Amino acid sequence: MKSIVLIFVVTLAAFAGIFSFNWGPVDGDFSSLEIQSKGAVVKTIELEDGEFPQSAEVIEAYYVIPEGCISCAICVSQCPVDAIVMNEDNIAYIDAELCINCGICASACPTSTIELLDEDDCNLFGIDADGNEELIQEGFEVE
Ligand code: SF4
Ligand code: SF4
Repeated sequence: MKSIVLIFVVTLAAFAGIFSFNWGPVDGDFSSLEIQSKGAVVKTIELEDGEFPQSAEVIEAYYVIPEGCISCAICVSQCPVDAIVMNEDNIAYIDAELCINCGICASACPTSTIELLDEDDCNLFGIDADGNEELIQEGFEVE
């Protein structure tokens, strides 16, 4: 049954876009950077040869806004391509590389906490070794 649903939703699914975000050199003792939209981590950026890259691409997919997740796992059971898992904090997490943008999870979520990427609301945060986050850049010029 799931395969039939999958064929149907793949046919209907919108093609995902990719947004490119740029920023300047990063000062600060951070372990990683995160691009977040409404609290959802849409991209984690790691050090490369001791420096952070100054740009990253983000896939236009659905993301879970963690503050609203009540850990019911309904979305996990509904996703036709198994793109959603519960993370170590028991919060749903969507793998954007797998998501086909069908929107089924967003419709099924009882707290409406799954949203399509809002590229206008993306911010860059630095994450230190203790997991604390610091806002580095508010908003991006989208390419
Ligand atoms: S359906 Fe919504 S509230 Fe339930 S686990 Fe998924 S994101 Fe969280
Ligand atoms: S929109 Fe939701 S249900 Fe559809 S593929 Fe993406 S994560 Fe799965």
